[in-house]
Amino acid sequence: MGDLNTSIQYLKGIGPKRAYRLRRLHIETVRDLIYYIPRDYDDRTSYKTLMESQKGEKVSLKVEITGFGIINRPRRNLSILKVPFKDSSAYGNMVYFNQDYLKDRFVPGQVYLINGKFNKVGMEYQIMNPVFENPSETKKVGRIVPIYLLTEGLKNQELINIIANTLKEYLKYVEEFLPEDIISKYNFMDIREALYSIHFPKSMEEMVKARNRLAYEELLAIQLGLFIIKNRTMSNNNGIIFPSRPEISKFIDKLPFKLTKSQIKVLNEIIMDMESKKQMNRLIQGDVGSGKTIIGVIAMYKAIISGYQAAMMAPTEILATQHFESISKTLKGSGINCELLVGSLSKKNKYRILKDLREGCIDILIGTHALIQEGVDFQNLGLVITDEQHRFGVNQRADLSKKGDNPDIIVMTATPIPRTLALILYGDLDISIIDELPPGRKEIETYAVGQDMKERIYRFIKKQLLEHRQCYIVCPLIEESENLDITSAEELYAYLKEEVFPDFKLGLLHGKMIPKEKELVMEEFKANKIQILVSTTVIEVGVNVPNANIMVIFNAERFGLAQLHQLRGRVGRGEYQSYCILINESMNPISRERMRILQSSSDGFEISEKDLELRGPGEFFGTKQHGLPELKVANLVRDTKILSYTQIDAQEIIRKGYLQSEEYRNLELRVRDLFVKINYELNY
Ligand code: ADP
Ligand code: MG
Repeated sequence: MGDLNTSIQYLKGIGPKRAYRLRRLHIETVRDLIYYIPRDYDDRTSYKTLMESQKGEKVSLKVEITGFGIINRPRRNLSILKVPFKDSSAYGNMVYFNQDYLKDRFVPGQVYLINGKFNKVGMEYQIMNPVFENPSETKKVGRIVPIYLLTEGLKNQELINIIANTLKEYLKYVEEFLPEDIISKYNFMDIREALYSIHFPKSMEEMVKARNRLAYEELLAIQLGLFIIKNRTMSNNNGIIFPSRPEISKFIDKLPFKLTKSQIKVLNEIIMDMESKKQMNRLIQGDVGSGKTIIGVIAMYKAIISGYQAAMMAPTEILATQHFESISKTLKGSGINCELLVGSLSKKNKYRILKDLREGCIDILIGTHALIQEGVDFQNLGLVITDEQHRFGVNQRADLSKKGDNPDIIVMTATPIPRTLALILYGDLDISIIDELPPGRKEIETYAVGQDMKERIYRFIKKQLLEHRQCYIVCPLIEESENLDITSAEELYAYLKEEVFPDFKLGLLHGKMIPKEKELVMEEFKANKIQILVSTTVIEVGVNVPNANIMVIFNAERFGLAQLHQLRGRVGRGEYQSYCILINESMNPISRERMRILQSSSDGFEISEKDLELRGPGEFFGTKQHGLPELKVANLVRDTKILSYTQIDAQEIIRKGYLQSEEYRNLELRVRDLFVKINYELNY
């Protein structure tokens, strides 16, 4: 009794079928049920009379049925049931579509509470598809009804009943875990009140108050966990001490370009970390094209001349391959041995690489996730770099670092993230920012156009191709169906190849192709044997073909701004004037506004902040994508203010060592629990 970990199948009214359906919603225990937060609310508290109601408004009314229902069938598949009623002000009709079975439910003289949308057609007052109940109940009308995310075979009202019963029986066993001083500081509800009110609020204000408290505790717990990890790594004095070496400046002097001020600043931060005894855990943030790779290469060079190996992990084979090629080129003649480890390698090659790696004959290993697999053993790993980090989680970072003995870690990302968000998404890392592009970059001319401009765009592309330039054409990834996505890229490819550009060489690239095929296509594109590359977003990160100067994006409205900015960053990498053409196929004003932002700004930070405002967190800013515990209540965009409070509070709690005190015991347990869920053991 009283255990929140009780499996739902032991609850009253939940048989095997319901339990199965609830599990599909990831509800396994009483706690999961209690924390199954409504996704929305239907506020049915507003009582009005017919005369007071406005067209389109949702209203609750007390009515008396005045006649029998009448069914009309204006066309096949449509029936309209009208039930006449009166309230204290006038006569009206309840109107139901395709619900003939309701006809016999209503008998003249019955009194109901109803709620639905008010409508007026000529002189006739209507309430559309109203819910109704006896005045003695007030379950559906006259209150705020929580709306839950459902699954097939489970109705909202069923879930409401289940949750109401569960709260009745178990809420008293939920323990407070916010300490008294925090509760009084923010004037929070206590946990039981908050959990009750988030499901069944008496007013929308009460719901907001409950949500604020629950969002706060959720964000505080994650933030605390991350700061604990960060603290531990910061005070980890078993890091490698790389000696200070003069060869570094010689290496930098020999580069074909001068480092920017920003690059030098970030490089110095890295070098300081490397030469200290603490283990480096550093995020390098820098817009596309800001020159992050070379900073990583210099750091790897430093590790290697100090007698260590280095590893670089990228999210896709294309990107890993490209890094391998460009880094090998940069390091040519330095005597440093660089190898590529990707899934598509032949068994024989893989065997050789793994052997050389163990024996220390390989200095730098570049690859994909394949790097963290078992059997990949370094002789003496000193530095780990992961590129385009938003695809890796806290855990994968840890896995990679286990391949060595406290190696230093650098994480690189091109996604510009506002500071408050960076503190949670990368809360376990120190942060360096490259906020300047190398000189001489030409601004990419960006145009947002409608469908009707396609012919002109094709002519423009032809002209550029005749001047030996190359072009990317990107189609959106349609989330509902990956297959649809591929057909659309394939269809576009076939169409363009046959109908529009029969005299040119086109290539197709998408995520479902086998790595060997992808590699081949990329090779041909790099060599200008393919002039137009039609692709899905697989080319989004890092791909570098300086001769390509046109990026055309179909259905641009379907992408996040940050993502469009990334895609745009694929061009403008060479000496030629570059163009980005966004084909916006939506009339929606927000989507036009978004296109306008991209047209007028080339600053990744600005773009991503605006995107957050307009669109919400999206895929880049989800906690799950970052390998963090999933948020149940909080929302990283809506709750930025709460987030910044939790950051200040978490810092203080850690600094003052409060977590060890009795009053914070429950909070500490909760933090551990959260991180166990992502298989991260918080020992400290
Ligand atoms: P990103 O930060 O997007 O990963 P890259 O590291 O791929 O950017 O750098 C983009 C291009 O800029 C590369 O071709 C690189 O050689 C070049 N580059 C890097 N730093 C400089 C610099 N200081 N001056 C000129 N070109 C540079
Ligand atoms: Mg890069």
